[in-house]
This record gives sequence, C-alpha cells and structure tokens, in this order.
Amino acid sequence: MLVSGLRTELLFLAEGGNGDLVRRRAIGAYLGLAVGDALGATVEFMTPREIRAEYREHRDLIGGGWLHLRRGQVTDDTTMALALGRSILTAGRVDAHAAAEAFSDWMRAKPVDIGNTVRRGIAAYRLSGQPESPQNEFDAGNGACMRCLPVALVTLGADPDGVAAANRAQAHVTHNNPVSDAGTLTVIRMVQAALLGTAGSGIIPASAGRHGAKAVLKQLADELVAAEPVFAYDRKRMENPSAYIADTLRAVFQSLFATDNFEHALIDVVNRGGDADTTGAILGMIAGALYGPAALPARWVRRLDQAIRRECLEQAQALLQHSPLCQARVPPETSA
Ligand SMILES: [Mg+2]
Repeated sequence: MLVSGLRTELLFLAEGGNGDLVRRRAIGAYLGLAVGDALGATVEFMTPREIRAEYREHRDLIGGGWLHLRRGQVTDDTTMALALGRSILTAGRVDAHAAAEAFSDWMRAKPVDIGNTVRRGIAAYRLSGQPESPQNEFDAGNGACMRCLPVALVTLGADPDGVAAANRAQAHVTHNNPVSDAGTLTVIRMVQAALLGTAGSGIIPASAGRHGAKAVLKQLADELVAAEPVFAYDRKRMENPSAYIADTLRAVFQSLFATDNFEHALIDVVNRGGDADTTGAILGMIAGALYGPAALPARWVRRLDQAIRRECLEQAQALLQHSPLCQARVPPETSA
C-alpha cells in the first residue's frame, strides 16, 4: 500500500499526470520546502567545519541533528506552512485571524521545534485576540518567510498589492518587521515567477527557458538589495547563516545562483550549516518551483515522512486551484 501509493505519486510527477506545468511546479515547490527542511535539520546549528568533520558532505535525509529527528521528519518550517495552508483553504483566503488560530492550534500540538518570536507572537495573540503583533525592529527573523509558500500559491495571479497584503496578514501574526516583510515578499515573488516560468504568464517570455526564469529570479533578488542593502549577497560567502532574515536569504541567494539544479543547490546551502533547516526550506521552495518536481532526487522524496508528503501534494494543488490565476481559467458554465 505504502509502496504503491508512493509509486503512483512518483509516476504522476514523472509523467506530469494530467496536470499542467504550473501545477507540477507548485508540487515541486511544496515537496522542495519539505525535503529542504528535512535535509537541513540534521545539520542545524553546526558550522561548515563541523559538518565536514562528521559527514564530509551532508547529502541525505538521515534525521538526527539536535532535534533527534526520524529519517525524513520535517520541522516547524514545513508544519507551520501546512498549518497556514489549512487555514487558507478553510477560510477561502489568507485571513490574519484564521492564520493566528491555525498557528495557535499548531503550537498546542507541541511541534518538534518552535522559534522564540513565533512562540511570543502566538502567546500574545492568545491573550489579546489580536492577530497582528506590534511592529518590532528586532523581529527580523526568518520565521514568517519559512512558512510563506501557501501565500505564494493562493495569490498566484493576484495584483501586487493583494499579494503584499496577504503576506503581511500571515507574517504579522508573529513577525511585524519591514525587513522581514521585504525579504518574505521577495521570496513569494520569486516562487511565483518560477511557477509561471515559461507558461505564457507574460512575466517571463516563453522563449526564455529555464535560464530566463533564473535571470528573472536574480532580478527580483537584486531589486530587494536595491531597496534594502542589508540583503546584499555578492560579498563574502555566507557560512553559518543565522535566523536573521538577511543572513538566511544571503545564503539562499548565493546557493541558488551558483548552481544549476535542485540537488546541488540544496546540498550547497545546507552544508553552510547555521539555520540550515530554514535555508533548506526556503531554497527548496524556490528551486522546487524553478526546476520542477522531477528534478527532486527520488531518494529524498521517497524518504520524506509519508503523511507530510501527502499533505504537501494535496495543499499544492488545492491552494493553486483557489488562486486568481486558476479561477480565471475556469470556463464559464454553459447552459444546457
Ligand atoms: Mg525548523
């Protein structure tokens, strides 16, 4: 049963199923998030030197790490994204109250890991009933960014202001900070550009191919740097990235633009150590959308926690179905 379920899923991915390109890339993004999280978690808080001493190069989903994970187990990055995705599918849109409730339920279920800013934000919501935490210059951690994928999918095709507002609604439950907002919105835009790729979106010309899609992602990263120079990623190699959003994204951008496939990008970023589950998760969602699900190493997808893999597949498709892009594609009902 297990094997046949997995085989069906992998066959779907390999053949493209009945789905179109955007749907397959959305699945790639969700599975990329989860495998990046699971791969990175093993070496979270280690330095590159410590990783080399122990693994030479860390390249498989083996679990362990400071959280003592099972093989293929994911952490808060993936489970918070799934909680947010569930709230969006139930509410029919990105809603701050629904997101705060979903995060509160998620915390009650005793997640394997939880960041300090996330814990504080959820605790404050429980006390006040207000889903927007006060603006705080110190809340520039990567916690809002790591869980942003459902917003990228459900707002695909929305106007830019709508995308930004949807992101603030989910982000500000725990992280109300302009640097976090700017970085997270850029990641959402990068995922969306990668999803639309050559699918005739108008964002990237069909003739541009994957190389063109990546050039657009680089342009988005460079626009972020122009607006917020703290994200400049062309200086020193970012090793041991912290949970500060700028550190995290500098590592992600360096690995993404220095490699040309999903596996190399993921291995490059997690072997930098530091907040490796989150650099893995964020790079995984972007690279999964860019390269598509067939580019994810089968040995990683196969080992991923089965229930998580299933929910990633379901949410990717359901969220996309709710997006303005897909809603616009629904043919008008014909009268009999
Ligand atoms: Mg984590």
